[in-house]
Amino acid sequence: MQYVSTRADVSAAAAPSQQTSAQFSDILLGGLAPDGGLYLPSEYPQVTGAELDAWRKLSYADLAFAILSKFATDIPEADLKALAHKTYTADVYRNAREGENAADITPLRVLEENGGRKLVLQALSNGPTLAFKDMAMQLLGNLFEYALAKQDAQLNIFGATSGDTGSAAEYAMRGKRGIRVFMLSPHKKMSAFQTAQMFSLQDPNILNIAVEGVFDDCQDMVKAVSNDLEFKSRYKIGTVNSINWARVVAQVVYYFRGYLAATTSNDQKVSFTVPSGNFGNICAGHIARMMGLPIDKLVVATNENDVLDEFFRTGIYRVRKSAETYHTSSPSMDISKASNFERFIYDLVGRDPARVKALFTKVESDGGFDLSGGPGSDGDEFATVAQYGFKSGKSTHADRLQTIRDVADDYGIVIDTHTADGIKVARENLEEGVPMIVLETALAAKFNETILEALGEDAERPAGFEDIESLPQKYTVMPPDVDKMKAYIAANVDAAPAL
Ligand SMILES: *Cc1c(COP(=O)(O)O)cnc(C)c1O
Repeated sequence: MQYVSTRADVSAAAAPSQQTSAQFSDILLGGLAPDGGLYLPSEYPQVTGAELDAWRKLSYADLAFAILSKFATDIPEADLKALAHKTYTADVYRNAREGENAADITPLRVLEENGGRKLVLQALSNGPTLAFKDMAMQLLGNLFEYALAKQDAQLNIFGATSGDTGSAAEYAMRGKRGIRVFMLSPHKKMSAFQTAQMFSLQDPNILNIAVEGVFDDCQDMVKAVSNDLEFKSRYKIGTVNSINWARVVAQVVYYFRGYLAATTSNDQKVSFTVPSGNFGNICAGHIARMMGLPIDKLVVATNENDVLDEFFRTGIYRVRKSAETYHTSSPSMDISKASNFERFIYDLVGRDPARVKALFTKVESDGGFDLSGGPGSDGDEFATVAQYGFKSGKSTHADRLQTIRDVADDYGIVIDTHTADGIKVARENLEEGVPMIVLETALAAKFNETILEALGEDAERPAGFEDIESLPQKYTVMPPDVDKMKAYIAANVDAAPAL
């Protein structure tokens, strides 16, 4: 399996310097391709009906191995299998609730079956940090440790978080050999629960830095350090953001799992509704569908930050300025641009890297592009979006509160705010004869403030999380100063060379 950048011309006619392609292990520890594009397989591996039949009987770990082995062809199969089994165990996904089996890893729950209409919830948030990011990040932690050990190398992960990504990264990397995590978060701006989740980690390889500023200040510092290539290579700085290809692949697995668990024969189809921000999660659904998984619709559910809903309604992609980005009660979807969207656009424009490059250069210069085919537009490919199964919808704070109440009343379970956005939009897209699976992206306990507002009572906390706020916390407070940050990294990396 070869990987190409969405912006690289790999045709025979291109200059040899452009034609580079890479293996899975080459891109594992990296982010963007050197040309600014995102990596994708040169072609999507296809699944046969016989494979799907065989996969119906597999454990989650064995299914993950079967799918990963189509993408990570340069990792010996026995190693990959061991990594999949280490990652996807009931022990790690132990926050399953009543009526769910932790061994299913992503258990399905039928919410409603009304004639031919069926609404199903797939729980992706039973991992250590109670959000779906664990599904991919836990695998990444094990893959990184494996790859670094082979090269006898080290990696210092440097990132910024407003909540879910940082904690998922820390819980995946804690105690891993050869890896250190430097995670920036805005000082006193995260919820008490999120702060406690991250700062209570005492592992020596986890370094929390509370920046005296807002999330954008943290992100600016990450960008500034990443742009200093000499510093970056000297101190082995890497990232784990949502454009990482291995994270996307890990997410492909649960679309297969959801499909196989909701159907009995490959003649049946299902649809998925996915609460979306950076287009990472649903991008994996697109890839599963391109591999031949019988998915009917892929429904994008956004919050008030409706960049993606706007595109899937109009064909116009218009990124927002940070000042135009709303702070909502589904905060993990508060984005101004969707960092994985380029992967879908690559397929939509017929895998033409020159078009992709021109379109995303225009995003930087003009704030977006228009594929509606209207006067002055940049193309007319929006007309073919339906072939890829995409639909979309949007949900607001009022919708979220109402949906949390309805779901508690009708089905007796408390859902988180992001999942509520998914259910709201899924209900608008239910179709006769096609089960609709909504991906549950977090547990309610993580966003308790809004649960309290909606239901007048606290969300239930999984065992072990009852007193998390009272645990001792380990973190360093710093001003938003890039030089001080670099000095801090250098001191900590030099101070502890051998982990
Ligand atoms: C990250 C996140 C999302 C959005 O996922 P994308 O891959 O960025 O679209 C949705 N819900 C929760 C709880 C998240 O943490």
